Amino acid sequence: MLKKGDINRTRAAYWCVVSGSDIWLQQGELPFASSDSLGLPYHSAIEIGRYQDEPVMWLNESEVEHELELVSLRDCLSFDSQLFLLMSKAVQYGHMSQTLRFCPQCGGRNHLNHNQLAMQCGECRTLHYPRIFPCIIVAVRKQNQILLAQHPRHRNGMYTVIAGFLEVGETLEQCVAREVKEETGIEVNNIRYFGSQPWAFPSSMMMGFVADYQSGQIKPDYSELSDARWFNIDALPPVAPQGTIARQLIEYTIEQIKLSH
Ligand SMILES: [Zn+2]
Repeated sequence: MLKKGDINRTRAAYWCVVSGSDIWLQQGELPFASSDSLGLPYHSAIEIGRYQDEPVMWLNESEVEHELELVSLRDCLSFDSQLFLLMSKAVQYGHMSQTLRFCPQCGGRNHLNHNQLAMQCGECRTLHYPRIFPCIIVAVRKQNQILLAQHPRHRNGMYTVIAGFLEVGETLEQCVAREVKEETGIEVNNIRYFGSQPWAFPSSMMMGFVADYQSGQIKPDYSELSDARWFNIDALPPVAPQGTIARQLIEYTIEQIKLSH
């Protein structure tokens, strides 16, 4: 783990000041300055990585005395992907410090261990590392069509690929097949790994796959979805935004369909 090392109060750094899924921006940019010039409590901050050779610091907004203007991390998806990953990391550490305030073993009060980037119980000394929730996300192809679903929680009516949480005792491939079947009634085969993206809402790891249609008729699970259907690639609805693995999966599938002609 990176430590504070050569950072000090007057050294410029990127500052990820977070609260929930929100992060502080100045004029639409992640602040880059020294803690002294920004009036931030240097001793509460931890270096969580480097961006373009400059330190990136995580600090909880609750530690800051003055008011800051926060925006949702979702509004930062267009940022450079390396910087967005570090901002997501800060949000996930913020989530850890919020949700692990008490020891799951003995109920004692936890404190942040700056060297381990984990919470530590003041009573039994157990270290509690951040929890990461594994999720699959999958683009399903049927000849020239892609399976997309609409969720009631997406207010703008966008469609996206199928996703869901891994269950205990399940392989990722089983999870892919189960989620697609449960949400849409479709059976898939030829499941291949695509790539991954940490997703800080609140602390998931999205593991992306592509798969092919095998059998079945679409029967959307209306307790989860407001719609699911096959779309021709030349008649797509509004889809997941740039910067998400969902969008990458959709674009990759469109490419693959085009290449097969
Ligand atoms: Zn304890």
